[in-house]
Amino acid sequence: MNTEIIRTKQYCNSLASYSRRKTRVVNIGGVPMGGDYPIRVQSMTTVDTMDTMGSVEQVIRMVDAGCEYVRITAPSIKEAQNLEEIKKELRKRGYTVPLIADIHFTPNAAELAARIVEKVRVNPGNYADKKKFEQIEYTDESYNAELDRIREKFTPLVKICKEYGTAMRIGTNHGSLSDRIMSRYGDTPLGMVESALEFLRICNDLDYHDIVLSMKASNTQVMVQAYRLLVNKLEEEGLQPYPLHLGVTEAGEGEDGRIKSAVGIGVLLEDGLGDTVRVSLTEEPELEAPVAKTMVDRYNNRVGHAAIEPVNENPVDPFSYSRRHTHEVANVGGQNVPRVIADISRLETDDYKDLKGIGHFYLPEPDKWRMNDLGADYVYSGNSPVQFMLPNGLKEILDYSAWQESTDKLNKVPLLTVDEYLAGGSKHGEINFLKLQLADLNEKLLPALKEDRTAVIILETQNEHGMAEQRRAFFKLINAEADIPVIIKRSYPDLTDDQLQIYAATDMGGLLIDGLGDGVMLGTEHAGEGRSKEQMLNLIGNYNNTGFGILQAARTRMTKTEYISCPSCGRTLFDLQETTAMIRKRTDHLKGVKIGIMGCIVNGPGEMADADYGYVGSGKGKITLYKGQDVVKRGVPSERAVDELIGIIREGGDWIEKEEA
Ligand code: SF4
Repeated sequence: MNTEIIRTKQYCNSLASYSRRKTRVVNIGGVPMGGDYPIRVQSMTTVDTMDTMGSVEQVIRMVDAGCEYVRITAPSIKEAQNLEEIKKELRKRGYTVPLIADIHFTPNAAELAARIVEKVRVNPGNYADKKKFEQIEYTDESYNAELDRIREKFTPLVKICKEYGTAMRIGTNHGSLSDRIMSRYGDTPLGMVESALEFLRICNDLDYHDIVLSMKASNTQVMVQAYRLLVNKLEEEGLQPYPLHLGVTEAGEGEDGRIKSAVGIGVLLEDGLGDTVRVSLTEEPELEAPVAKTMVDRYNNRVGHAAIEPVNENPVDPFSYSRRHTHEVANVGGQNVPRVIADISRLETDDYKDLKGIGHFYLPEPDKWRMNDLGADYVYSGNSPVQFMLPNGLKEILDYSAWQESTDKLNKVPLLTVDEYLAGGSKHGEINFLKLQLADLNEKLLPALKEDRTAVIILETQNEHGMAEQRRAFFKLINAEADIPVIIKRSYPDLTDDQLQIYAATDMGGLLIDGLGDGVMLGTEHAGEGRSKEQMLNLIGNYNNTGFGILQAARTRMTKTEYISCPSCGRTLFDLQETTAMIRKRTDHLKGVKIGIMGCIVNGPGEMADADYGYVGSGKGKITLYKGQDVVKRGVPSERAVDELIGIIREGGDWIEKEEA
């Protein structure tokens, strides 16, 4: 990161107490955003904008599901014009929800839409530029000439917005930065920020301020860094604190989509950033608002949480990723991937089948254990030792007292409290887990930990602002130069599946994204009583999958195929849900491979910047296939496209047969 450009690491009010960033209020059709207004929830339609009644019905379903603003794509003048019909029909039916026109490439559509709807969204990467994927060398002179060209193209829209009281979102996407930005900054968080600032400075010169900003990416690390950097740069340039629209693009569907969205959006909300949220799932748009609501509602009463020691200086660079340095203890910390510990302490584990949910399978015929990609690394059995020999590669952690009584003190390892640890009794020769909270990291314990090459912390928190408290503990360790590995542990009282995925992804992902944490553990101690063994096994299986999902979403341990699928919109050229399911069925064993599935060729290729392979709609029934950013086959009939995609993956050397996997 360029240290001349980023002079401070400041990006939020406080890293210790929850405090929402005070932003400028922007009025959007009578539903104001920013300031002390609630964090708003929004989403986008997927019906063709020319289908007036279809769009109206979908908007109504979205509003009824909790959407406070609705975005509709306007790829050309005719769709922009039809927004008037959609708006009229909605108002006739008593729906006053503010509408937002989504614009790419078409200033004339934006200028018309700005006279009709309450807000327009422009993408600074393609408002005045067509992406040619060229790396052109710009001199200062030619760069400035480009900026003049943008000013000329963009100024009319700003003037119309001013005249009509229309708000605007300047929405940067990681995947669609202009060649100009790419040539100077690369596809970096700084490039994303500069892309928006080019447009924002024009608005400022024209004294237009009804602006919302966003920095979306499919890569959660890049997305979080870009938002933080944006806030830092607004401050540094003395620009106004414009409200932020938060979103992770192409998050995917189901559990993975929810976890990925929460990792990106949640970590920013934790630090008080964000005035509106859009969760992009490859599902019906009315399913998005409840997920966003679950995220934002966590902060309704967050102020007033138990105090956390203030942070004077952030020892971590919030604008770029680097994993906290730790020494290796057995297979934890150092260069090891972050570990997943499954908590089975509330189970009587007496049957091989009990480990199925956490990815370990006993096959009686060859009399062998098999492990899938989501095989837990450790089980924590508390005071109820597992009653059979565990598979290789799976270690058991017992409470210290139970470990002391165990006949196998080598293969089982202890979990100690701070008192037990300091009492100095016998310990395991290689690895000892120690559970503690921030308050335990005192002058007595820290020096002992620094000396100990066998200790691994299991970091807990009871604080309602738990992510910040755990982060404070990491900072304390870093400042004390204690490079002991740390497992992030969280436990929640009974939650729905959606809540668990969102809360845990926010709380743990928020740390992992900053390189903090050598593993995760979701404790079961607060899960309600009265469950049957079957239900408990399901819960533990869910926790295990969520743990792996969080590590993947934070990009710290890739165990699954990653699908970067767009949420679909009026431009979409095929049924995205059906196609994603079809591609998934054939490829979900390709660990770590990233496949982009995009509804249209206009924005698709840019939006899947991160993907290894791409499947992009390029016409009715026609698909264009990519390897990275390169087109490999154009206009493939959709009936053959999945087979052809697999062929390209095979040629790329990333294919393995399902049976082998
Ligand atoms: S990539 Fe998908 S969501 Fe984006 S514009 Fe194209 S169809 Fe719409």
